Amino acid sequence: MLTKVIEQSKIDHFAKWMERADKIVIVAHVAPDGDAIGSSLGLWHFLNTQDKDATVIVPNAFPDFLRWMPGSKDILLYDRYKEFADKLIAEADVICCLDFNAISRIDAMADAVSASPARKILVDHHLNPEDFCRIIISHPEISSTSELVFRLICRMGYFSDITKEGAECIYTGMMTDTGGFTYNSNNREIYFIISELLSKGIDKDDIYRKVYNTYSESRLRLMGHVLSQMKVYPEHHAALITLTKKEQSNFNYIRGDSEGFVNIPLSIKNVVFSCFLREDTEKPMIKVSLRSVGSFPCNRLAAEFFNGGGHLNASGGEFYGTLEEAEKVLELALEKFKPLLNAKG
Ligand code: 5GP
Ligand code: MN
Repeated sequence: MLTKVIEQSKIDHFAKWMERADKIVIVAHVAPDGDAIGSSLGLWHFLNTQDKDATVIVPNAFPDFLRWMPGSKDILLYDRYKEFADKLIAEADVICCLDFNAISRIDAMADAVSASPARKILVDHHLNPEDFCRIIISHPEISSTSELVFRLICRMGYFSDITKEGAECIYTGMMTDTGGFTYNSNNREIYFIISELLSKGIDKDDIYRKVYNTYSESRLRLMGHVLSQMKVYPEHHAALITLTKKEQSNFNYIRGDSEGFVNIPLSIKNVVFSCFLREDTEKPMIKVSLRSVGSFPCNRLAAEFFNGGGHLNASGGEFYGTLEEAEKVLELALEKFKPLLNAKG
């Protein structure tokens, strides 16, 4: 049995909206990851079983390794089909905002979603949700939005309507937001939910292979290159990897190719904090990705030094300047956080 994580009044409220709604739009954050796409499609498959006219809209493209997901071909990319998407958003009865805590995280879609008269619900697990939805289901203690979507559907009494396809999407989000159940994954109820998803006939081993073992040759060579340039800061238990625009073009970089790179330095003994700095190809900035193991708060470092935020163990930000300058800022940050980086636990 599962603990009742989501408040009953919110379940009842959404169930009422859903009953009356015909057109439902599901939106997720920019540069969608496995949990953004997994939770969105998980909910979408369910709404389809209820004969709703549902559409998933995301701001821009998602990585190739998520393309196998059932329903992914029906996802509308806002940057390609803005006019059609604007119409759906404006005419929706209900808009479900999944896996983001601030309207700015949906980028160019923010204006359309804000202006829409639709009823809005947030289902998310990031800290400090902004107040842009009538129903706010926000649970930072839960490791994925996909898990929250599963809980929401079940609590409304529709477990039996979760299809194998829907279960595959929910599982994918739960898996990717926990690094294949290697972090934020000690809650035993996760494994009860997996057991329930397996009862729908999903092949979890196959999903793992489809997500993690379908790299292109150039991505693997890029990974080798990036790692060969890695800097390790033994006194700070930290490591840094970087990727310039030039290197991206040398290795035929496509969006998503560096997904997961930031986690790799954490496999070095005694490294508890990893930073990945990547020159953005669209904006004149450095995208900052931070990861930690244990209690080191990368979200604090992201907020103080890189104008960002996120979770304790996974956060990010943006830096306007050169890669060299960003590296200097990181080194200052390492010095400032040295006591915490050296703390045990
Ligand atoms: P990633 O390294 O995968 O891009 O981001 C990891 C997490 O950091 C995201 O789930 C998000 O919570 C947070 N994050 C990433 N980039 C930003 C940013 O620019 N601003 C803020 N506030 N959070 C970010
Ligand atoms: Mn998530």
